[in-house]
Amino acid sequence: MNFADLGLSPDLLAAVADAGYTEPTPIQAQAIPPVLMMKDIIGIAQTGTGKTASFVLPMIDIMASGRRRALMPRSLILAPTRELAAQVAENFEKYGKNHDLKLALLIGGVQMGDQVKALNEGVDVLIATPGRLMDLFERGKILLNGCELLVIDEADRMLDMGFIPDIEFICDKLPENRQTMLFSATMPPPIEKLAKKFLKSPKRIEV
Ligand code: AMP
Repeated sequence: MNFADLGLSPDLLAAVADAGYTEPTPIQAQAIPPVLMMKDIIGIAQTGTGKTASFVLPMIDIMASGRRRALMPRSLILAPTRELAAQVAENFEKYGKNHDLKLALLIGGVQMGDQVKALNEGVDVLIATPGRLMDLFERGKILLNGCELLVIDEADRMLDMGFIPDIEFICDKLPENRQTMLFSATMPPPIEKLAKKFLKSPKRIEV
């Protein structure tokens, strides 16, 4: 399997080549084509399998068209910790260098002022930890009804950290007509239940 066979754009293939990757990992080979076809997926994969690029790469192509609007991020990635959220943002910067993408990172422990300013200017990809996102949502600083794509990363860690009620609250605010991807190293019953409630006929990929 070659990166060029997955349906990614030439600009993105150039960024992947610059990153020094010669072939997709199994999760990338299996996830990227259905994601580009706007399908929901469940990716059962540990850290270290290349799972981040399996959603970041197709998202860059999906987000390449469309208009930004103030307060209404076009896509959302939920991560359990600040560190993981920052890593996801770094991946977008690395692979998205040939694209005009506006990212915003909403994590705790950072002044809210800059985050609010970024949201006002319009965001393509919002990367957030659930707590800070809920906080800004409840203050009316963010609208979630323009978010057509959602990624829930490391869902089992979200469960361990007690974030499932926050995730359910957030999912309920997103448009029903959206694409959803859920990644988890394991699938304990509460995560299966979450997936059943919020994903539509997902393709299940286990590596
Ligand atoms: P992740 O599982 O997303 O945390 O990625 C683990 C590591 O694999 C990261 O350091 C990536 O830079 C690297 N990586 C991701 N995709 C590939 C690939 N196709 N070939 C080689 N390394 C990769």
